[in-house]
Amino acid sequence: KETVSKNFIEQIIDKDLEEGVYDSVCTRFPPEPNGYLHIGHAKSILLNYGLARKYNGKFNMRFDDTNPTKEKVEFVESIKEDIQWLGADWEDRLYFASDYFEQMYEAAVKLIKKGKAYVCDLSPGEIRDYRGTLTEAGKDSPCRVRSVEENLELFEKMKNGEFKDGEKVLRAKIDMSSPNINMRDPVIYRVAHMHHHRTGDTWCIYPMYDFAHPIEDAIEGVTHSICTLEFEDHRPLYDWVVRELGYEKPPKQIEFAKLYLTNVVTGKRYIKKLVEDGIVDGWDDPRLVSIAALRRRGFTPESIRMFVELCGVSKANSSVDYAMLEYCIREDLKMKRPRMMAVLDPIKLIIDNYPEGEVEYLDVANNLENEELGYRKVPFGRELYIEREDFMEEPPRKYFRLFPGNEVRLMHAYFVTCQSFVKDENGKVIEVHCTYDPETKCGSGFTGRKVKGTIHWVPAPQAVKAECRLYENIIDEEKGVYNEDGSLNLNPNSLTVIKDCYVEPSFQDAKPYDSFQFVRNGYFCVDAKDSRPDALVFNRIVSLKSSFKL
Ligand code: ATP
Ligand code: MG
Ligand code: MG
Repeated sequence: KETVSKNFIEQIIDKDLEEGVYDSVCTRFPPEPNGYLHIGHAKSILLNYGLARKYNGKFNMRFDDTNPTKEKVEFVESIKEDIQWLGADWEDRLYFASDYFEQMYEAAVKLIKKGKAYVCDLSPGEIRDYRGTLTEAGKDSPCRVRSVEENLELFEKMKNGEFKDGEKVLRAKIDMSSPNINMRDPVIYRVAHMHHHRTGDTWCIYPMYDFAHPIEDAIEGVTHSICTLEFEDHRPLYDWVVRELGYEKPPKQIEFAKLYLTNVVTGKRYIKKLVEDGIVDGWDDPRLVSIAALRRRGFTPESIRMFVELCGVSKANSSVDYAMLEYCIREDLKMKRPRMMAVLDPIKLIIDNYPEGEVEYLDVANNLENEELGYRKVPFGRELYIEREDFMEEPPRKYFRLFPGNEVRLMHAYFVTCQSFVKDENGKVIEVHCTYDPETKCGSGFTGRKVKGTIHWVPAPQAVKAECRLYENIIDEEKGVYNEDGSLNLNPNSLTVIKDCYVEPSFQDAKPYDSFQFVRNGYFCVDAKDSRPDALVFNRIVSLKSSFKL
């Protein structure tokens, strides 16, 4: 019996298969190569790929490159990389809409011959005015009555470059009084003397999205063409195109709600501005939610898949809390990644009764909840670094970490008792002195007494210096995304760079994108752009705790 409820798209597919509308399922992801993909696109990719998998169907990767103005090869490559990283496999089904220009041209000729399309001389402004409004019917273009012969001839001339940009367009002849304005003789081809990144100067006419898209789907045998809600009132035109062109088993368009995240910027326009103004370090700045940025920050494909699944598929627009994405990456890394010691704000701790120059190697479990991750050796000696906040000269109530006279556990090592401390001339504490009790070694079975606090540390002589970058949302949560003048309301603290952190020597071999739990400090990932073997840079992916509840 079916226990998991199906989303509305799966219900449509089930019905289509049952009724024999289609024999199998084919979906596609059709990005325009005009920018980097973001978390919203990930939803569309994983939805389409997931449906193809679930129904044992096909998933097509298609670049919707019919508008040469904004498209670039650079974006084609980054989009492919992002989709592969997410784990959506198009196998050998990689397509470019521009490969269908000839077929689209022929389709337009077919419509002209059927008396369903005409060449129009009106200017863009006139076309808009003639189109009418929601409350007012449109007016016929004087060109609507042109003969098939004349239309064929003019369209051929459009194709041959005999007209300037904007001088003539081809329009579908549908219904100038339709309540749906998209049906009032939409433009389906325009003249544009532009170089295309794949077809070069072969064409000077280019099809409009609403005409091109259904043809692309039909040519590829796509069955369910899934798009976002704003295309809902374009669907009658989609259906008109595939019907008039007489495709067998024509594809059908299904709309779902876009994914919106709270307090993040997804608009290309805004991200571009942040990049240009130097506020962020490129499209992959870890504060952004482009796929490249999420990857660089340390998110995993698994965490994004989990996130998209939790979001579900719906017909109603809504925003999802960024905290849910954080929840997913914590869940994913919790068991998989080693839990290491790193000190972000170091202060020296000296164990006065530990023999000078001696080093012992402690056996430390990489992840106490996951035996499979094994053990590592961590050197321990007389001089360590601990977090500055783990010592207080005058502790408040309920402070169980180090203060004069108090005993704590050094994680994986011994109990130490604070004996004294040293200040510099400004009154800043620079050394904490302790004594240790050899009997309390971790793993020795010591039960003589208990301590309330456990703090982490790194061995001072062997520790590796590293830079850590901590992030907050780039938008000020309290005040909203936009200022009154329309500019972005930036959070001045979105990036904190800490230069002099110390990490365990076992980090020496950390490679780009490797991620770890830094105990008590969060999950961190080696920055793929700026980290060097001798100058490690870590991005904090997420802190360890949150109030977020599922
Ligand atoms: P943007 O302007 O944010 O880049 P877009 O719609 O221009 O978005 P396209 O490259 O045209 O991006 O879209 C590729 C596919 O991704 C489309 O099928 C589109 O519906 C889908 N998509 C884009 N944004 C989202 C989103 N926020 N949530 C879900 N799907 C999305
Ligand atoms: Mg886009
Ligand atoms: Mg678009």
